[in-house]
Amino acid sequence: MQPFTYHRAGSFDEAMREAARPGAALLAGGTTMVDLMRGDLAAPSSLVDIGHLPGLSEITTTGSALRFGALARMADAAEDPVVLRDYPALAESLQLAASQQLRNAATLGGNLLQRTRCVYFRNGVSACNKREPGSGCSALDGEDREMALFGGSERCIATYPGDWGIALAAFDTAVEVRGATGTRSIPFADFHRPYGEDPAVETVLAPGEIITAITVQATPAGRRSTYLKVRDRESYAYAVVSAAVALEMDGDIVRAARIALGGVATKPWRAPEAEAALVGRTLSEAVALQAGEAAFAHAQPRRQNAFKVELGRRVVARAAMVAAARGN
Ligand code: SF4
Repeated sequence: MQPFTYHRAGSFDEAMREAARPGAALLAGGTTMVDLMRGDLAAPSSLVDIGHLPGLSEITTTGSALRFGALARMADAAEDPVVLRDYPALAESLQLAASQQLRNAATLGGNLLQRTRCVYFRNGVSACNKREPGSGCSALDGEDREMALFGGSERCIATYPGDWGIALAAFDTAVEVRGATGTRSIPFADFHRPYGEDPAVETVLAPGEIITAITVQATPAGRRSTYLKVRDRESYAYAVVSAAVALEMDGDIVRAARIALGGVATKPWRAPEAEAALVGRTLSEAVALQAGEAAFAHAQPRRQNAFKVELGRRVVARAAMVAAARGN
């Protein structure tokens, strides 16, 4: 680990100033940043600790939107009674992530900033445009079982590793941030950048900007939602394929659908073709499977991950059936 200075911010304004300095990084729950630093995958010259700042940990579930303070812990949101009852997809995405110990420490804002598990990024020595811009991408001709079916480029094909972000993508979500030029609300679909020119730049956050909250518009589809995650072992593992589905139903007919995919794309991935395959239809297992097929119609499998296409179709179909059965 490289030497660094530790700065415990006394206020939000001080945190913004310190975080904007070259080489600075934020520390909140520490579960991502310390992990990256131990692996020499991040080497900030200064760590700005914001984990104790007041007013950023509240979870509000009344009114027209849920509001999750950026420093709220994953475990607290996963156990919130309103989230559990009215937005099970959000609760499940948190319950199925990491371990209880990590969920007790990790923050909801920091969770959005976790970095890929690509083995070539993590090993610290292989060519990797994300770790060392311009060095190449070892995954293009290497092990690609874990790599993306959607959103990749010739520069990077790494999957986004999160669960919470996939569930958020199935709702009208925004990320509130505050920086030197003021506050802004970023639609969640725009928060993570595509891997275009520079895979090392993963979000649209400007230097010094700090996430203050995540907001989710209230919707009756919340009660008919689920997050289904398939992984290589039953706990403490990242998704091989996952799907978040939220439905509005009129009897057996789907009135509205939101579907997002995880484990298969470079960022939280909406599947509008799958949503269109459900809306206006009487839901059945056959219709749900058609939605799964639509979700993966434009997948770009590689040598070792083509199995994810069929697995993904079935995950979407099962999630749709589970979601529809809720709220009856
Ligand atoms: Fe690096 Fe992305 Fe290629 Fe993995 S897929 S080696 S993270 S550039």
